[in-house]
Amino acid sequence: MQIILVSRSKKVPKTLDLACRRMRWRIAAMATVAVTGCMALGATVALALASPRDRALSQISELQQKIKAQDIMLGAVRRDAQRDLDALAVKLGQLQAQSARLNALGERLAQMGKLDDGEFDFDQAPPVGGVEDTTGSAYTLPQNLDTSIKQLATQFDGQQAQLSALQSLLMDARIESNLKPTGMPVQGGYISSYFGTRPDPFSGRNARHTGIDIATPLGTPVHAVAEGMVTFAGIRSGYGDVIEIDHGNGYMTRYAHNSKLIAHPGQRVRVGDVIADAGSTGRSTGAHVHFEVWYKGRVVNPLAYVRSHR
Ligand SMILES: [Zn+2]
Repeated sequence: MQIILVSRSKKVPKTLDLACRRMRWRIAAMATVAVTGCMALGATVALALASPRDRALSQISELQQKIKAQDIMLGAVRRDAQRDLDALAVKLGQLQAQSARLNALGERLAQMGKLDDGEFDFDQAPPVGGVEDTTGSAYTLPQNLDTSIKQLATQFDGQQAQLSALQSLLMDARIESNLKPTGMPVQGGYISSYFGTRPDPFSGRNARHTGIDIATPLGTPVHAVAEGMVTFAGIRSGYGDVIEIDHGNGYMTRYAHNSKLIAHPGQRVRVGDVIADAGSTGRSTGAHVHFEVWYKGRVVNPLAYVRSHR
């Protein structure tokens, strides 16, 4: 067999005679070299291609390990955060309970002070939050907590303002109440003569009795029935030793027939202060306190005042 190689540059074609033993060897050697070269190239290419994949695989596995570790850490952080949130939720619950107690207290104060209920809205609905949830589900959104805390803060501010207003109103009410004649000027004793027209105990003729008489043992302490200023302490015709207190709101009280005067003019007296000892000075048939209440310059029936309570 003969292979004829034709070249453009060479006019004469080259002839490879396969029948020639030397030529066959040369071709076999060339083929062997070519095959070996191809195999080496293939191996190199295969290695070059396989190496990055392995590296990537190992990197992926490394990342997976890292992610796993981070996941564990995240779990711990989440548990911590949940614990913190639970603690906050508990704290918030306590604050809300306190707020409810404040509301109840405020309402009671408003009732005690006989204040207009409409003025004090202590009966607000409690703030909504997961704390009231009894299903046991914990807070999952910090946003809920934040909202609840803000609501609670606003509520506390409102309560603060309302309680301050209530306090000043109660103080005013208390002062007002302290200035009004209330209760008996002596402990014990009984009313032996009422206000109004009665036969005069000395002349027997009808006469107007301008107060009430409270029969009481000699020396019984006589108390101021309201806060005020002593305007008179001395002897008045018929009244004997008398104390007069101006309460500054149109009221004046008079305590007569005392055996001893304790308060002095210009003295400021509080509710219940001892101002005199009961006696029988002046036009009197026995130890008693003659008690008068004056309102805006006119003598009034003291009965309603002595029977009222502060
Ligand atoms: Zn009298």
